[in-house]
Amino acid sequence: MANADRRELVEDDPAFTWEPYRPSGVLRVTHTSCCGMYEFASGGGTFFVLRHVGGARYEETGRGRYPIALAAYIALVKQHHADHRGRGERPEPDTYLAREGRRG
Ligand SMILES: [Zn+2]
Repeated sequence: MANADRRELVEDDPAFTWEPYRPSGVLRVTHTSCCGMYEFASGGGTFFVLRHVGGARYEETGRGRYPIALAAYIALVKQHHADHRGRGERPEPDTYLAREGRRG
């Protein structure tokens, strides 16, 4: 699938600092973005965004309360969708984008 092949090529958004995933409590992934690029997850009472960086390695960003992590997720997915449109592709709709500004 062409989309999956391009996954590694998407540039980082400098607004987000990605750090190695730090396990905290039981990991629960509640939502996966277009192309499986980002995962909205929680563990140990905090929320964060995960991305797979190869093998068994994951990185996280936006860790904090629900609105913090959700804002990070939405910004990342919007950028990812814009990248698709820039290539003339249609991104997969993401129901979490409709949650913008809502309280968890
Ligand atoms: Zn995608």
